[in-house]
Amino acid sequence: MSLLLPALHTESSRIALRFGERALSYRQLAAAAGEMATRIGDAGRIAVWATPTLETAVAVVGALLAGIPVVPVNPRSGERELAHVVADSAPAMVLAEPDAELPEALAAVPRTDIVVTAEADATAWNLAPEPNAESPALIVYTSGTTGPPKGVVLSRRAVAVTLDALEDAWQWTGDDVVVHALPLFHVHGLILGVLGPLRRGGSLHHLGRFSTQGVADALTGGGTMLFGVPTMYHRLADALDSEPGLVEALSGARLLVSGSAPLPLDDHRRITAATGRHVIERYGMTETLMNTSVRADGEPRPGTVGVPLRDVDLRLVDDAGKRIGTGGEESAEGTDVVGEVQVRGPNLFTEYLNRPDATAGVFDGGWFRTGDMATRDADGYVRLVGRKATDLIKSGGYKIGAGEIENVLLSHPGVAEAAVTAAPDPDLGEHVVAWIVPADPASPPPAEELADFVAGQLAPHKRPRSVHFRDALPRNDMGKILKRELTGPPEPSQP
Ligand code: ATP
Ligand code: MG
Repeated sequence: MSLLLPALHTESSRIALRFGERALSYRQLAAAAGEMATRIGDAGRIAVWATPTLETAVAVVGALLAGIPVVPVNPRSGERELAHVVADSAPAMVLAEPDAELPEALAAVPRTDIVVTAEADATAWNLAPEPNAESPALIVYTSGTTGPPKGVVLSRRAVAVTLDALEDAWQWTGDDVVVHALPLFHVHGLILGVLGPLRRGGSLHHLGRFSTQGVADALTGGGTMLFGVPTMYHRLADALDSEPGLVEALSGARLLVSGSAPLPLDDHRRITAATGRHVIERYGMTETLMNTSVRADGEPRPGTVGVPLRDVDLRLVDDAGKRIGTGGEESAEGTDVVGEVQVRGPNLFTEYLNRPDATAGVFDGGWFRTGDMATRDADGYVRLVGRKATDLIKSGGYKIGAGEIENVLLSHPGVAEAAVTAAPDPDLGEHVVAWIVPADPASPPPAEELADFVAGQLAPHKRPRSVHFRDALPRNDMGKILKRELTGPPEPSQP
């Protein structure tokens, strides 16, 4: 019995993986991945050129069968980032589709083609001994939202624990067909989106590329759960009025799940108004895998990321390192005071690759410091307010979460996208700055009007002091806004 892939031992003709028109049953996947496991042999550590394809999924499953740690590589990373990942992870080989053109940074790494041979002998890999649960399954690089990506070593145990906690929270079964179009080099798309369905003995239907029509077709064609990042739900919300069939498709899904970044309240509202369904949010990190989620059998509560998953301890800690609230460590006591989220549990990573100091630095006696800030409702629902480093504005003695202001700005009809940052202020310490992509580039709403709009709904100290207009916001592959790239005028308008 394989810890991570129990269902691969079946001879089932149920579809395990579907990418576009190509699909493999469990029996075929066992054969194809077994063939890859044989090619991988006992290499020390391997990289996979992680295009959003069946090949990538088969290669990763093959590496897991072989018990060899796998580093999924973002095929869209720039030369510098790629060189960093290659030097840092030092893979013994790189697995890639035969026709993939690999960049210079990978030239020195021996290459093995990924071939999907569904007819191979499925029994060969059964001979490989099951690796220890604590041995590394994957080394996944963080999204690089706040700095250069860090290599996160994830054990087989951590991956199994997080997927089983999601089974509990989402009532995820082998009958579920997960639909998504996420990249396969992060936790969301690869661990939740590929290994999740396989661990349950269910199916993945990957769209290759995201499109609202593709989502509608896949959900109508048997998909039960949709995984997406907020930019995808935003596009779905935009398409509800114009695309026939989309409302019905989303209404018919068992679970609509969003994660990786905050889903704006306005998108929650539009999707629920049209479909009667709530998108549920889950909160995780590369280092911790999944921490919290709104439960399938729980009350949906937009603006929260739900409650801690099974076996995850979560606490909020103030700047002085003191736990907020007076209850016991696991108490779900509510608080309006913003504190840093710290978590503990069997879902945590082993270490940052090659960075013992960084690893030691993020732990506080067994508790992992996430760098995310939150409050907690009285019944334990967690409300993320943003990241300590980029989303917390300290102004005139107040701590202001960027997300709250972004949500208000996004509900203004003239605003398509919004980000809020802090700027140094001689009087207040910092003040609020808004970055706006107007809905109509030809006539952006007046800066003054936007600032008043915020002040009319939130406290006066949350009023943006300056508003910058942009054609687009800088985002990474997961649609996360890169706030460190939002700097400088030109020509701020001063409301
Ligand atoms: P880096 O660590 O390299 O700066 P990153 O933190 O974006 O990048 P990931 O590990 O992929 O890399 O992302 C984890 C972060 O994503 C969390 O710390 C949190 O800030 C954010 N996040 C994840 N899920 C949610 C969610 N549902 N709502 C809000 N933020 C979320
Ligand atoms: Mg991070």
